[in-house]
Order: sequence, then structure tokens, then C-alpha cells
Amino acid sequence: MFDSLSERLGSVFDRLKRRGALTEADVGEALREVRVALLEADVALPVVKSFIAEVRQKAVGTGVLRSVTPGQMVIKIVHDHLVSTLGAEEAPLDLNAPSPIPFLMIGLQGSGKTTTTAKIALRLKQKDRKKVLMASLDVARPAAQEQLKILGEQAEVATLPIVPGQMPVDIAKRAMQAGRLGGYDVVMLDTAGRLSIDEALMAEVAAVRDATRPHETLLVADALTGQDAVATAEAFHKRVGLTGIVLTRVDGDGRGGAALSMRAVTGRPIKLIGTGEKLEALEAFHPERIASRILG
Ligand code: GDP
Repeated sequence: MFDSLSERLGSVFDRLKRRGALTEADVGEALREVRVALLEADVALPVVKSFIAEVRQKAVGTGVLRSVTPGQMVIKIVHDHLVSTLGAEEAPLDLNAPSPIPFLMIGLQGSGKTTTTAKIALRLKQKDRKKVLMASLDVARPAAQEQLKILGEQAEVATLPIVPGQMPVDIAKRAMQAGRLGGYDVVMLDTAGRLSIDEALMAEVAAVRDATRPHETLLVADALTGQDAVATAEAFHKRVGLTGIVLTRVDGDGRGGAALSMRAVTGRPIKLIGTGEKLEALEAFHPERIASRILG
């Protein structure tokens, strides 16, 4: 991910660095190239527009051009804006609530939601020493509940026993009760995914939210789907309210647009990234590290 964006920006910046003095027109030309590179990386248009406008203002307005190393200064301004677009600070999972803490996992089918639920459970168990219970609320896809059970066995994390015929809200309530009775710290509710956002899916997720009052509502989004992932996040955030985003398939060769747009479009941080199929392949999202990877 980010390889072609990184290459494109690298060549723009190399040219900037080689020039001693810079005029406003030089900066304008470089920023036009940055703009094209961001659009080609599938970054959402409004995000690109405000990014370029802010960088331009900083770069031409504040004595940068009269400095000893204007090229370096412009590059630093781009870097700093990239970090703030990505979210500036790391955003860890919030565990500051009474047990059992409900986590609601939502997203489209195939986004990696069930795998990510198990990945997070394993992380909470290993890193935070939390006792976690997972429950699948996916009654639409016959094998879904079984899939989470198998992942639970792999991660050695408990799953709620399957009761055939029960509806999502009832499963969620049963999970919370089992969480209380069993002394669990976190209850992870893996909701059903659909191929596209529809009202039935939204209503179901909203009903589960109202019944459980989740402390974290995490959208799982596939980084390879670019602008679609961002549109999905926007829709879920409007209707259900998100606390954070987990971006999956960051190990794939996506162009990076989703990662760069998510925060700006939804106002919610990317908290974690999925970097492979294994249950251990989950990492904290570090805006600074990603920016450095993009800018080399
Ligand atoms: P769901 O339908 O959203 O619940 O998706 P699943 O959890 O069943 O995942 C679909 C496929 O994506 C599975 O084969 C997962 O192993 C795979 N997957 C999930 N997350 C990642 C990731 O971060 N990287 C890669 N390469 N594959 C992933």
C-alpha cells in the first residue's frame, strides 16, 4: 500500500530539494503535482482540496520562500498536514468503562469483520489481559456463527453458545447477560454484514446499538475498496455513530486513499489496521509512521 503515491511524491520533492530558491509559482506547480498524486491514490476529492489549500497557504504565506532551505520547509509542511489528515494522534481502544464493556463490530460482508472481531479479542486478551466474550449476531448467513466459534477456539477466546432461531437483538442481550454473569471485561458483538448498505441492515444495527449501548462502535472497512470504504464509513457514521475504524487488508496493494480520507470524512479515527489473515495480524494505526512511509 502507498507505494505508487510514495513514488510520485518522492519525485516531486526531489525536484523541490534540488532547487535553491523557490518562487510562489514553483510551489504552485509542485502542489499541482501533489494534488494529482493524491487523486490518483484515490483520496476523496474534498480531502484533497482542503489539504492542498492549507498547505499552499502555509507554504507561501509565512516566510518559507525566503528561508535558507525553502524546499525542505515545503516538504515539512506537507508532512505535517499528512499526519494531521491521518489523525495526528494514535487512537487506542477505549477500555475505560464498567465491565462488561460492549464493543459493536459493524461493516459490509467480506470486509474482514468476523476475522477482525477475533483479532481484537485476541489482542485484548494478550495485551490488555482482558477476559473477552464474543457473540455473532449474524443470523442471515448460516455459517457465520459457526465461523466465529472456530475463530474463538483458535484464539482461545470464549464465544456465546449458539441458540438456533434467536434474533440479533436477543442474542446481543443474552451476550451482555452472559458477560455480566461470567465476569467478562469485554463483550464483542459481531453484527451481520451485507453486500451493500441497506435500510434493513442499518435498522438492525441501530436496534442492537440501542439494546446494548456500545462503548466502542467499530467499523471494519476494506482498504482495497478505496472510495467505497469511505462512503460506507460515512453512511454508517451518520446512521449508527462510530467511535472508530479498523482498516483491513492494509497488507494488500491498495492505493491508500481510504486510509488518507477516513479521518477527514468521518471525523473518527482509524484505531487499528489489519495486515494479514492471521489472528495476530492487527496493529495500532500510527499516523506519524504512515506519513513517514508515504513521504520516505
Ligand atoms: P466478513 O464477511 O466481513 O466477516 O469477513 P471475514 O472476516 O470472513 O474475512 C473475509 C476474508 O478476508 C477472510 O479470508 C479473512 O482471512 C480475510 N482478511 C480479513 N482481514 C484481513 C487483512 O487484514 N488482510 C488480509 N490479507 N486478509 C484479511
